Amino acid sequence: MPADAPELSVKDLRTLIPEYADLARQAVLLNPEPGDPGVRESSLGGAPLWPADEPWPYCAQEDHWTYGSDPRNRTEFLPGAVPMVPILQLFARDVPGLEFPEGKDLLQVVWCALIHEQDSGPVEPRLYWRDEAEVVAGGLLSEVPVAGEGEFDPDNVPEPSTLSPSTAQDGPRWLDLPQDLRETWEPRLRLPTGGSSWPPDSNVIATKAGGWPAWTQPAHWPDCACGHRMEHLLTVTGDIRLGDCGGVYFFHCRRCPGLPWDWRFDCH
Ligand SMILES: [Zn+2]
Ligand SMILES: [Zn+2]
Repeated sequence: MPADAPELSVKDLRTLIPEYADLARQAVLLNPEPGDPGVRESSLGGAPLWPADEPWPYCAQEDHWTYGSDPRNRTEFLPGAVPMVPILQLFARDVPGLEFPEGKDLLQVVWCALIHEQDSGPVEPRLYWRDEAEVVAGGLLSEVPVAGEGEFDPDNVPEPSTLSPSTAQDGPRWLDLPQDLRETWEPRLRLPTGGSSWPPDSNVIATKAGGWPAWTQPAHWPDCACGHRMEHLLTVTGDIRLGDCGGVYFFHCRRCPGLPWDWRFDCH
């Protein structure tokens, strides 16, 4: 495809491949802005509302490493257990487009901010659904342990940010479509002058809830043990550097009790 091939507007796309445009779903874009979020606010990288009677999660993998202050020097680092870092906290009131399990109105994500030898990205994320009133009534953890120097890779830790969620129509990445569908649709992208337009993409690359994953590599959806493909829950991308990683994606299955979930990440 020529480097100067025109990009399609969303309007062109709707005309040329209405079936693709019809796949759009509503996503909640989280729009983080560096700030000083409180524990009762939705945040990226902010202190979470954590129950006093629940120990803060640690990662005890033995293959931890980090670049440290000089990115040319990969530093082997085997410190034992390190505290995980808060990534995302969403209160239902701030993300009306996101469906919470019955009785829950708070979603939290933490992960280990060191690099793991076998995965080359932030790993071992944990995801929690909670009831805000119940957490508050039971008392809060007075101090969330903070990963000390050498216990995190700065690329994997978001700057504390408040969120200003907004909704947007979000389509699948072109490479998220089954190959036979792409092959059926691609002839419609041929230009009258010969050649083709770029494949269309109506996917929003942003940290978001719902919608479609903002894969930077070919799609890699997890299947639930029940045999169904999981649904996209969250994409965390762009607003933190994530080293060589394009994004971290969370999925769950709402058909199964206990909301089983899984995650993926991909590289640039
Ligand atoms: Zn770890
Ligand atoms: Zn399932």
